[in-house]
Amino acid sequence: MGVIERYRDLLPVSEKTPVIDLEEGSTPLIKADPVAEMIGPGYNVWLKCEGLNPTGSFKDRGMTVAVSKAVEEGSSAVACASTGNTSASAAAYAARAKIKCIVVIPEGAIALGKLAQALIHGARVIAIRGNFDDALGIARELTDKYPVKLVNSINPYRIEGQKTASFEICDHLGRAPEYHALPVGNAGNITAYWKGYKEYREKGRTHALPKMLGFQAAGAAPIVEGHVIEHPETLATAIRIGNPASWKQAEEARDESGGLIDKVTDDEIIEAYRLLAGEVGVFVEPASAASVAGILKKAKEGYFRSADEPVPQKRDIVCVLTGHGLKDPDRAIKCVEQPPVVEAKLEDVVREAGL
Ligand SMILES: *Cc1c(COP(=O)(O)O)cnc(C)c1O
Repeated sequence: MGVIERYRDLLPVSEKTPVIDLEEGSTPLIKADPVAEMIGPGYNVWLKCEGLNPTGSFKDRGMTVAVSKAVEEGSSAVACASTGNTSASAAAYAARAKIKCIVVIPEGAIALGKLAQALIHGARVIAIRGNFDDALGIARELTDKYPVKLVNSINPYRIEGQKTASFEICDHLGRAPEYHALPVGNAGNITAYWKGYKEYREKGRTHALPKMLGFQAAGAAPIVEGHVIEHPETLATAIRIGNPASWKQAEEARDESGGLIDKVTDDEIIEAYRLLAGEVGVFVEPASAASVAGILKKAKEGYFRSADEPVPQKRDIVCVLTGHGLKDPDRAIKCVEQPPVVEAKLEDVVREAGL
């Protein structure tokens, strides 16, 4: 069952809405003790593995609602600007709905797996000589002037679908976590999670709200720096965004929840990326590792040590792992030693295996 069927009563759909889904959602929430040990006693760390959605990122949660509503409203085409995952998801759901999908991407700035997805699902992919923010400007103008529905996260149905991840976390833990950490790019997801937690509490399905901890890449941290970044730079391409569309909403989520938005360097991102793969067994794309890099940074600063210890019950920190590692295999290859090549002899293999 996809997120529309599971959370129908909390989504803007009716009997008339054609449900275009790929059974997205219901992703694993796994415990990561190696990370928790680095945070300190008294904490559980949970990883919400959104890379296990049908197209390999959380974007599917929003796309099922956005594309279903587009079809309900009679659209025969959708369009988006993308750092990669939005286009992969839009292309898949448009294929499922048998409608056209137009994708505007920054040239040379998309991870290979994501580009392959958009193309094989049959989207019309157009690369521009510019960055994501330029691409979004064009997609907005295009969808203003032509009968094409914009499915970037400024489309409110995207946010509606993405908020279901908060519901799943609360359902799994039996309560809201104390802290919720995630990477921030265009800031749609932090907006969606916060909306989801608040709605679940209003409905009485949880009693508390988490502190929202958003993390931007240091070279693309407009919210942290307080101004637009003209030329955002980071190897975490999914969050290489200099002028987030949901900037204000991200600040509201931060302030209302008593949380924070901070930045992590590319080195810190890669360290967390390797920790997740090597010690926890979860392969994510670099942007996803920003959530874990962020809580490790805050732990070093003493952020989690505060207040009333000893705690009666461990506190929960949920980190969203937004996308799958296979999206960007080049990055993995680049940051490890290349495998040795030896003669086809057992003794050579045994020697190299260190046995
Ligand atoms: C889209 C995306 C993000 C950023 O999410 P926003 O809603 O733009 O803040 C982070 N990680 C991955 C893997 C993404 O695809």
